Amino acid sequence: MRLRTRRKTLVIAAAIGAVLALLLALILALFAVGNLAGDSDVLVDDSDPTPDDPPLVQHLKKFQALADEYGDRSARGPGYEAAAEYVEEQLAAAGYDTERQYFTFERRGEEYETFNVIAETDGGSEDSVVMLGAHLDGVRGSAAMNDNASGVSALLEAAKAVQAQGEPTNTVRFVWWGAEEYRNSPGSRHYVEDLAENDPDELDAIAAYLNFDMIASPNYVIAVYDARSGEDEARLEVPDGSVEVMDMFTDYFDSQDQPWVGTGWDFDSDQVAFAHEGVAVGGLYSGSDERKTPREAALFGGTPGKNRDPNYHTDDDDIENINMEALTIMSDAITHAATTLARDATALE
Ligand SMILES: [Zn+2]
Repeated sequence: MRLRTRRKTLVIAAAIGAVLALLLALILALFAVGNLAGDSDVLVDDSDPTPDDPPLVQHLKKFQALADEYGDRSARGPGYEAAAEYVEEQLAAAGYDTERQYFTFERRGEEYETFNVIAETDGGSEDSVVMLGAHLDGVRGSAAMNDNASGVSALLEAAKAVQAQGEPTNTVRFVWWGAEEYRNSPGSRHYVEDLAENDPDELDAIAAYLNFDMIASPNYVIAVYDARSGEDEARLEVPDGSVEVMDMFTDYFDSQDQPWVGTGWDFDSDQVAFAHEGVAVGGLYSGSDERKTPREAALFGGTPGKNRDPNYHTDDDDIENINMEALTIMSDAITHAATTLARDATALE
């Protein structure tokens, strides 16, 4: 009897143990799913675009579909031309004339030709030009959605909003850059060097350049190019007026009760060529392969210790790598900046 009872007790204990283990596993699994959902608000899938999709989602779905068809949006492949045609169609529908600026760049001894897509407002002072840009090309073999279909799509919406506002006080010029993913961002460098050499007055007329490269990272931060950092820290001298660009974004975020952080702005992207010529620069950024800090997780949610974009420059940077919450916050800020500066650029003085 004693032995039997003991065995029975053991069996019951084992059963209770198994149930507890199952429950624990279930709780852990739920926690893991919750965590995943928490650091990536995936609101888009790769289904076909519908008229009910918000415009940003329609753009993203189009760029994903083009990547599915052509493989990527590399400056060296046919996907770039197809993506540029889509951007040009969107701009034409909004009432813009667009222009292609062709240039060549080198890669391992080979020369390639590609182009920037440029559109600007009619009317508005030619002596006061505000420029906003995002690179249209992507790394090879990737749909390149966060880097940088995100910036491309937000810039399209900003251009539409500026046009809808009517005749501007200042000229607003939008550029979708080619070949940013190659050393020294040859698209923007060509644009700036060409003006410096052939039309310095037009270069002087540029009040500021605002850059948008990666603004929908899955484990995002809302970061503003930090022009306050001392010249000792930055590899580049901070051009006059850059702090004013930064203030415009941070004042806007403050007015929306939106937390933000500063970020180094001297990385290789399309603002560098402008900064070299002393043009005020600014921009927004949601993160790439830097790890999210606990402080950033407290401010923006997501997962501390994990990369802000775990799929940076990989073929997993597809439409499911887009955080729509981040993209919406950033897109609204870009539209705010563009429409405000179209009316009044005194904030930059
Ligand atoms: Zn990029």
